[in-house]
Amino acid sequence: MPGDKQEKKLLETVDHLADDMLNYASRLVREPSTLGKEASAVRVAEEELKKLSFDPVRVPIDPGSLAKHPGFAPVPWGYEGRNNVVAVRKADADGGQSLLFNGHLDVVSPEPLEFWDRDPFDPVVENGWIYGRGAGDMKSGVAAMIYAVHAVEKAGFGLKAPVTIETVIEEECCGNGALACLAAGYDADAVLIPEPFGPTILTNQLGVLWFKVSVRGVPVHVQSAPAGTNAIEKSYAIIAALRELEAELNRSDVPQKYKDVPHPLNLNIGIFKGGDWPSTVPAIAEFHGRLSFFPGVSYGHICERIVETIKEAAKQDPWLAENPPLIDFYGFRSEGHSLDFDLPAFSTLNACHRVLTGEDAREYISTCTTDLRVFTLFGSGQATCYGPVAENIHGANERVNIGSVIHVAKVYALFLARWCGLKE
Ligand SMILES: [Zn+2]
Repeated sequence: MPGDKQEKKLLETVDHLADDMLNYASRLVREPSTLGKEASAVRVAEEELKKLSFDPVRVPIDPGSLAKHPGFAPVPWGYEGRNNVVAVRKADADGGQSLLFNGHLDVVSPEPLEFWDRDPFDPVVENGWIYGRGAGDMKSGVAAMIYAVHAVEKAGFGLKAPVTIETVIEEECCGNGALACLAAGYDADAVLIPEPFGPTILTNQLGVLWFKVSVRGVPVHVQSAPAGTNAIEKSYAIIAALRELEAELNRSDVPQKYKDVPHPLNLNIGIFKGGDWPSTVPAIAEFHGRLSFFPGVSYGHICERIVETIKEAAKQDPWLAENPPLIDFYGFRSEGHSLDFDLPAFSTLNACHRVLTGEDAREYISTCTTDLRVFTLFGSGQATCYGPVAENIHGANERVNIGSVIHVAKVYALFLARWCGLKE
């Protein structure tokens, strides 16, 4: 265990580096890294790593070889020219435990833009918060994890175990970025992800899947509407049936950890498309949904439940019975996980949290998925999220609390000292 003097020096060093770290976070926010457009943010991450004397390499996502991996999620888009960036800091001595920091560079769309008080990709600092899409989810966390490692060196210490810094893409849609890095051999005894859930220790996360439903109708002029079939309106019954499935899943076999979480499983119809003319009965409608499921439940089982639910709903409608909706699964196909709060890495993290707050960190039971899935399901490390405080992630006027970003960098620096071990 490192001495008080060493830890004090580490914490002071983080304070000295805080402006650089926050400036870097803002520079990352400036890059609008929505799906398929991550290249400039990846470049900024890579340049910063080089500037801080790390040795970053690009890790592509090769669907050809990854397709065989049970964690791979098929997607309808390509991976040409799209990369993760990984830097490994070698150990300066033996005897410590290895650590991997993972953070994602991709962000969700800021639309509708008119809901924002400012340009989502022109970050502004105001009253202790950084505003912008990705400020919370999760570019400040990426800055915190990189600067925590930098702080150890800047304070004049080495580490007794290797540390891997991994900045990935595709976290918001499928997790293939983090998976590609794991498949390339990047793994460690402990994994920390600074998702913006606050300074808590995540032990449980849900399974999540995406699906698309296509409904067909008969296009006619509205003057003879009874002769047509309105694909948009035919979708209502399907969505209602899926809502019932959601309610049933929330009622049955709820794991102990989720019993106190109100409405843990959420169905979201996130995209709805259909029709192109007010006076034409729409012949095609499609909607895309996200549904979560409890740890211990398989992806295949929930797929079956969705298929069954839609089939049953279609049978109740003569048109849909004859013209059943098409169901497509793409993107997320992650299963959930449940870990003990007292794993050694979590206890160490909690102890570091206590140094700064005087209190134990809260256990976090999550109702979403994160890149933890890759590590907990297929890796070898004890993996959790511990991150800054953010508001309005995936919404308008997203912001991250600056004090909380500095706090995370400090706790991470202490964790590096205690988990990996310092070398004077
Ligand atoms: Zn995130």
